Amino acid sequence: MKKIILGLALFGFTINQAQTDPKLYDIIDAVSEERLRNDVKTLADFGTRHTLSDTLSDTRGIGAARRWIKSEFDKISKDCGDCLEVFYQKDLVEKGTNQRIVKDVMVVNVVAIQRGNKYPNRFIIMSGDIDSRVSDPTDFTSDSPGANDNASGMAGAIEAARVLSKYKFDSSIIYVGLSGEEQGLFGGQGLAKYAQDNNWDIVGILNNDMIGNIKGVDGVIDNRTFRIFSEPVPANESERARRARRFYGGEVDGISRQLARYVHKTVKTYMPEMNPMMVYRLDRFGRGGHHRPFNDVGFAGIRIMEAHENYTQQHQDIRTEDGIDYGDTFEHVNFPYCKKLTAVNAINLASIASSPPAPKNVGIGGIVQPSAKFSWDRVDGAVGYKIYWRDTTSPTWDNSRYVGDVSEYTLDGIVVDNFFFGIAAVGKDGHESLVTFPNKIIR
Ligand SMILES: [Zn+2]
Repeated sequence: MKKIILGLALFGFTINQAQTDPKLYDIIDAVSEERLRNDVKTLADFGTRHTLSDTLSDTRGIGAARRWIKSEFDKISKDCGDCLEVFYQKDLVEKGTNQRIVKDVMVVNVVAIQRGNKYPNRFIIMSGDIDSRVSDPTDFTSDSPGANDNASGMAGAIEAARVLSKYKFDSSIIYVGLSGEEQGLFGGQGLAKYAQDNNWDIVGILNNDMIGNIKGVDGVIDNRTFRIFSEPVPANESERARRARRFYGGEVDGISRQLARYVHKTVKTYMPEMNPMMVYRLDRFGRGGHHRPFNDVGFAGIRIMEAHENYTQQHQDIRTEDGIDYGDTFEHVNFPYCKKLTAVNAINLASIASSPPAPKNVGIGGIVQPSAKFSWDRVDGAVGYKIYWRDTTSPTWDNSRYVGDVSEYTLDGIVVDNFFFGIAAVGKDGHESLVTFPNKIIR
């Protein structure tokens, strides 16, 4: 009897008083609806941003668009004492690589790096796409404003850079416009390869693709809900890891899913007016996005996007048919919502870039014992660690205990069989790393 009461008391103590950072509220307020509106207009006014479109004109085509994006990043950098490293990252994609590449093309991404003070080679990335398309994916001359798909995400990445460049962070933040999305995710492939070649330590990518539509084709109008897509486990995991899951769990606890949970939690804490909806899949049913090339090579990555899409305004020739106006035009974008989703990104970039790296080498034990045991490697820059756990059917880390600056801990009275567990590192101002799911068994 005594033991049961103790068990309950223990749960009482584990309710987590989340420490909040006032800076994140300032960041939310600093995101400008007006600037997002202007930038989406500017991008849509390039006529088409098709990956194969004109690159010489100053007013039309993807060349003009990317030069403008670079000039915006350069301007932001000038305003913060050259705090951004701005450059083009490019790869040649040859005609016939797939059916949508009807001529040789240089796929050019625009990258801006805000270098971290403490972990300069550790990166959290926010991406949008530069390119657009109409009904025929190989039509590179027709008007293709791509206002929501994906000038909204591109404008969001530029605006996040404007806001966050006023601050200094421990880790590096990358703001990037990717190209070649509609032709087969080529820009993402190029940057993921570049990251590997340069040994970038990537925490994850927040891929923003369509963050400005609130009127769904399903008849729903909703300016609070947005979706966070994440794959369950890494696509390139080993056969050994796959087999171990049968016995130790982890089917819904891959690195991208932990990133999704992190974003969900940050939004619930700082933007309670929003309704983040985790979707337990890589992307929409049978459809693609630019986080996938990062996932393919083992980096964490999620897609952030509106909850209700309107297919009459995606990948459509501009026309009126049976009384319906088709086309992805400027007037359909909802900027108060675009501002909210940009803020969602900005606070997560700020929080992750302020946090120590996640613990590595996380061990778990407790087979046929009344307590769950943990061990992990201490992290440089962490002041302590937090053990998280949840019911096996829960999508979110519902319970936690801060355990101080130790590298092992036993949760008395918590049976390992009945929960999933993970460990996060906590920094001096309370910012937490992503949660690491245990990857080895201890006795
Ligand atoms: Zn698209």
